[in-house]
Amino acid sequence: MLQLHNFIDGAFHAPRSGRYLDNVNPATGAVYAHLAASDERDVDAAVAAAQRAFPAWSRTPLAERAALLHRIADLIESRLDEFAATESMDQGKPVSLARAVDIPRAVWNFRYFADAMQHHQEQATHMDDQALNYVHRKAVGVAGLISPWNLPLYLLTWKIAPALITGNTCVAKPSEMTSHTAVLLGEVMQAAGLPAGVCNLVFGTGAEAGAALVGHPDVPLISFTGGTATAKHIIQDSAPHFKKLSLELGGKNAFLVFADCDLDACLDVALRAAFTNQGEVCLCGSRMFVERPIYDEFLRRFSAAAAALRVGDPSDATTNTGALVSAAHRDKVMGYIKLAVEEGGTIHAGGKVPDLPSHLQNGFFLEPTVVSGLAADCRVQQEEIFGPVVTITPFDSEDEVVAWANSTRYGLSATLWTGDLSRAHRVAHAMDAGIIWVNTWMLRDLRTPFGGMKASGVGREGGHHSIDFYTEIQNVCIKYGS
Ligand code: NAD
Repeated sequence: MLQLHNFIDGAFHAPRSGRYLDNVNPATGAVYAHLAASDERDVDAAVAAAQRAFPAWSRTPLAERAALLHRIADLIESRLDEFAATESMDQGKPVSLARAVDIPRAVWNFRYFADAMQHHQEQATHMDDQALNYVHRKAVGVAGLISPWNLPLYLLTWKIAPALITGNTCVAKPSEMTSHTAVLLGEVMQAAGLPAGVCNLVFGTGAEAGAALVGHPDVPLISFTGGTATAKHIIQDSAPHFKKLSLELGGKNAFLVFADCDLDACLDVALRAAFTNQGEVCLCGSRMFVERPIYDEFLRRFSAAAAALRVGDPSDATTNTGALVSAAHRDKVMGYIKLAVEEGGTIHAGGKVPDLPSHLQNGFFLEPTVVSGLAADCRVQQEEIFGPVVTITPFDSEDEVVAWANSTRYGLSATLWTGDLSRAHRVAHAMDAGIIWVNTWMLRDLRTPFGGMKASGVGREGGHHSIDFYTEIQNVCIKYGS
């Protein structure tokens, strides 16, 4: 069976323990590969390689680092179909989504940061005729990068690219459920000629490999994307070492629909916001609030569109909704559907495992599910489900819907649909969320800051925020001569 090995010091290595984890295809439930179950010895070896590579890499001219990142981007692009098929098989997402979104975004992550850093400028200030102040940046050292399973290569490379372009070396640990495209990335880095040790990929569980990285004294920076509960461990384990931390966490995002919006356009986007990637996107609009005059029509048309989505084989180009990432996650999402009914909800679409051909019957599928009739403060409307389940609730006033939108512990994103420009600005500013979309969803400009408020995150990445995070910033104050 295929074995997925760690990429350390420029070469692939079996885990020191000789242990492996099952790598499952979520569409069939079958184990199709074995993944290195790394422990702290593998993490130590990766960190040592990254430390050895750091002095030369951090002094490599920026233009050379940028050229290497561009070469990596070109090589991923040249294997687009293979990357997309692998990501789909590993994670359960439709191959069309991996091909159109995940892999192109990974390519863009490398291209964007290669170019952005070369155009980056610093401020200088003159203190009358006394002194000059300017900012000097240094690479931090070995960056520890930990990513989740929902957008495996997209989120991993969004950390690796800014870490490397700013002169850091890194040890990255992708999710143990979806590490396969990272192995392909290791091959690409080898082929691109990235110097050994600059980027190391260690596979395995969070409790073992992840915790070893977070607690490692020679890793001064941790960028983590994942669940809010896990982040508490990251904060605790890194605290004794005073690490630089960026935490991108869970969400329970509100999607507000005012009666004056373009309803046809809104319905198309609402469907994507609810069910893209089986609802396994941290930014999904999982709580929809619709103004009373258009509520009935919205609920009817949205439910019909959800029921018409094609759930099935992720490798089929016509599939809209693939498999959830694991049996445990599918069961968790099913538990929330049951809870929704217990909490008084009505199911308008989905709610069960779909009938599928025999080769998919052990896969982790679930129909796109629409629920109405729930109070804004019930568990289903407050807790992150991270699956194809959306709630729809009518509202009567702007104040009411703003209060409901802000009523969860999360604050990642919010979306609002309206034809009233003043209201768009007013309600956007009232949202306790780090990113607000008006009359669109998931439109991302990498130059803009990204991150959540409240339990959705700490810190910002994206654009110059990433450059800030992945560098130590020094102020140099030089007194002019007398
Ligand atoms: P998770 O927290 O279970 O795992 C994320 C990563 O952390 C994995 O690589 C895992 O192995 C590792 N990990 C687990 N325990 C660890 C520990 N003690 N020490 C170090 N590492 C550890 O999250 P998940 O289930 O993979 O991903 C889903 C979550 O991620 C959802 O809550 C989702 O909202 C969130 N997410 C957030 C964003 C964002 O940008 N805010 C993006 C995508 C996903």
